[in-house]
Amino acid sequence: QLTTGLESAWNKLRGVDVLTKENIAEPMRDIRRALLEADVSLPVVRRFIESVSEKAVGTDVIRGVKPEQQLVKVVNDELVQLMGGEVSDLVFAKSGPTVILLAGLQGVGKTTVCAKLASYLKKMGKSCMLVAADVYRPAAIDQLTILGKKVGVPVYSEGTEAKPSQIAKNGLKEAKGKKTDVIIVDTAGRLQVDKAMMNELKEVKKAVNPTEVLLVVDAMTGQEAAGLVSSFNDEIGITGAILTKLDGDSRGGAALSVKEVFEFVGRQARREYILVSGKPIKFVGQGERIEDLEPFYPDRMAQRILGMGDVLSFVEKAQEVMHQEDAEELQKKILSAKFNFNDFLKQTQMITKMGSFSRLIGMIPGMNKVTPAQIREAEKNLKFMESMINVMTPEERERPELLAESRERRRRVAKDSGKTEQQVSQLVAQLFQMRARMQKMMGAMQGKDSPDMNE
Ligand code: GDP
Ligand code: MG
Repeated sequence: QLTTGLESAWNKLRGVDVLTKENIAEPMRDIRRALLEADVSLPVVRRFIESVSEKAVGTDVIRGVKPEQQLVKVVNDELVQLMGGEVSDLVFAKSGPTVILLAGLQGVGKTTVCAKLASYLKKMGKSCMLVAADVYRPAAIDQLTILGKKVGVPVYSEGTEAKPSQIAKNGLKEAKGKKTDVIIVDTAGRLQVDKAMMNELKEVKKAVNPTEVLLVVDAMTGQEAAGLVSSFNDEIGITGAILTKLDGDSRGGAALSVKEVFEFVGRQARREYILVSGKPIKFVGQGERIEDLEPFYPDRMAQRILGMGDVLSFVEKAQEVMHQEDAEELQKKILSAKFNFNDFLKQTQMITKMGSFSRLIGMIPGMNKVTPAQIREAEKNLKFMESMINVMTPEERERPELLAESRERRRRVAKDSGKTEQQVSQLVAQLFQMRARMQKMMGAMQGKDSPDMNE
């Protein structure tokens, strides 16, 4: 079990001050085993471990962040990086219809993806057409026709007699005539990679010159995905992949193998790998329904691979980059009624660092009733207040009383920040209100444990 493996790895790091080659060796072994268990292919795991070790050793552990959290962050960031870092968008043709050719083994979900993609593109405002170039079973054409009706896009087919490349070509011609934005070509798959399938795909590709050639891969394929991607890429040349059936119990290891396909060459001792594909995963399928398709988010996949439990919250904590000392100082300030604009800034910056407001609020149970508009409003408010604090002098930030006492000062802050005098007064009043509230809170807590600002 991946999560357990990683947890035991982190536990071994507890209490350590710096990450060294020695003290990460054992956790790294655990991570390696855990990744292999998640079905990431061996060469990818090897390279990953090397790269993570390199990055982890020598990094100063951020103060206030535990070393095991720091290592999780390195592992997480590297996973995200390996999987492409960011969302990789579909490429559209500059003129004429964009042609998306789908390839992949039998049963991986190509035909389903046709409909899902069409629905996705329709929502983007693009007109679509599906082309039935799987001619081996009449049922395949029927399936596509039914799906097309369901999504409300036309399906071009010529029955089972015509050649797939000819169908694709005619389909494209029809789409041009109708000024359709995107055509998606469904093709036949085999149970295994074979010559006939590849040749047929090559012909179809030649006939329609696709903008995107997307390999559809079943996530359950696991580490086999690596080999699959390189054979398809070598034979027909792909522009990306779509990972399907992620709603199953796949741990997502395939994602890593698809994105970074390494071929192991030369002697093992020299550990040389050649990047074969590195093609991005563009979408993931998470179910049988039409809506179950979304862009591939490397960060979410990293979280899936790392496990969603405790480890993830470690990562999030590490990312807060909140220094223990800062927190303690802040706590002291609050207790001594000296909460000032610097503390205020620190607080808002902490919120910003912890991720956007919206994410934070989404994490609080029962808070999902907050509307996006309200969240945007709150974020805007914070920025608004920050812009006034930014033009205050250091003394003014330290001692808000100066602003409370001097209209001159408030006027100057208003002028320099482009706000009104009244808005500055409001901000100052707000700070004192916060102070008072905190005092009251502290009073109510007297006798109890002081609150842990770090959690
Ligand atoms: P093709 O042979 O590649 O065209 O595969 P199909 O599109 O016909 O799909 C094969 C089966 O997989 C069908 O029963 C689909 O409903 C199912 N399927 C496709 N995508 C997904 C997915 O993301 N999740 C799940 N659970 N099932 C899927
Ligand atoms: Mg099919």
